[in-house]
Amino acid sequence: MEIEALVGEEVEPPGPLTTAFSAAEPGLNPAWTGARAMPDPPNPAARKGNDGLAGSRGRLFRRRFFPEATPADWNNWNWQFRNRMGTADVLDRVLRLTEDEKSAISRHAGLLPVAVTPYYASLLDADNPQQPLRRTVIPTNDEFLRTAGEAEDPLEEERDSPVPGIVHRYPDRVLFLVTGLCSTYCRYCTRSRMVGTAKYGFSHDQWGEGLAYIRSHAEVRDVLLSGGDPLTLTDEKLAWLLAELHRIPHVEMIRIGTKAPVVMPQRITPALVAVLKKFHPLWMSLHVTHPEELTPEMGRACARLANAGIPLGSQTVLLSGINDDPATMKTMFQGLLHLRVKPYYLYQCDPIPGSSHFRTPVAKGLEIIESLRGHTTGYAVPTYVIDAPGGGGKVPLLPRHCLGRQGDDLLLKNYLGQVYRYPDHPVSGWDIH
Ligand code: SF4
Repeated sequence: MEIEALVGEEVEPPGPLTTAFSAAEPGLNPAWTGARAMPDPPNPAARKGNDGLAGSRGRLFRRRFFPEATPADWNNWNWQFRNRMGTADVLDRVLRLTEDEKSAISRHAGLLPVAVTPYYASLLDADNPQQPLRRTVIPTNDEFLRTAGEAEDPLEEERDSPVPGIVHRYPDRVLFLVTGLCSTYCRYCTRSRMVGTAKYGFSHDQWGEGLAYIRSHAEVRDVLLSGGDPLTLTDEKLAWLLAELHRIPHVEMIRIGTKAPVVMPQRITPALVAVLKKFHPLWMSLHVTHPEELTPEMGRACARLANAGIPLGSQTVLLSGINDDPATMKTMFQGLLHLRVKPYYLYQCDPIPGSSHFRTPVAKGLEIIESLRGHTTGYAVPTYVIDAPGGGGKVPLLPRHCLGRQGDDLLLKNYLGQVYRYPDHPVSGWDIH
């Protein structure tokens, strides 16, 4: 297979769907209330892996806003990608934007563009600008506020990038940024400095340099593909890249970080899964934010991946007013276990420019972890981390369960706040504080 044919520069698809919307307007049904039609999260059908109810909300949305689209169009990820919504005019037809949202969308220029797939738009509440999912993808003018400690590249990934696209921070693994594109852009994205731009155009040369770096570093046993969202690449490009990585003898495992099953579950096709399962051990981390994302469509995508033997984990960013309460997190993490997704990391929000309205005190994250540990299945408890600004890497944060030492005993606080002793003989040079 010709590499040039497969590894081209990804191009942003043609602009927003004004035409599709104009065509849809005559068919608008003013009585329809999309947001109120949403199931209680997490959706019971998704919990049972039942596809029978999948898509009823999406169907209503499609008929209202894309009356010319067929069910096959809606279920086609290329159609979802092509029909992303990104301008105030288009989004206003679906969401009844506030003046603040309209002005923020119109003001926005450059990186981290506004784009929402029709599927994800169907999950948004047309009447409530405070709905958690809506806040994650529709900008407000808070995004233009700059506060102390914010930085374009807060994790200093560029500093640890020996060749374009590779971040080599930890001893035995690398991050490989393989595209700048996402199907839907999150307003709090850690890589807001690069997503949606051609500057990181992922060309044959760039992938080639990244692969050459990995080949020449025998200590790299684990490669995490990210971006952007690697699942915006075609099956052919992914297959080529995975095959190149797979044949490097010291690469023991490949991971893919993606939000596709959440914002564009149509991407998880049998053909994609057939590609992925050729390259085991292949793991996948899903970016999940809120229990309202756990729809039947997402459940079906997860089932396809899990049935192909792909271990699934989730990554969640702690976001003020969106998911920063114990009940929401517990519902989401328990729902993910139903979908065979292990909650993996809960991230403190990175201080990218314009993120102050999303960031919570660290105490809030600790409170959430404390509310989970011991109170629900251990598998449902992720590791809470701060990715240390300045490039320090992930630092785990735990509520205080070890209260110190009394003689040879450690004092331990359990999940109910009761104190127990463990006979622990100190080791020279080590102590527990
Ligand atoms: S899907 Fe990931 S890479 Fe894309 S905008 Fe969201 S956080 Fe950023």
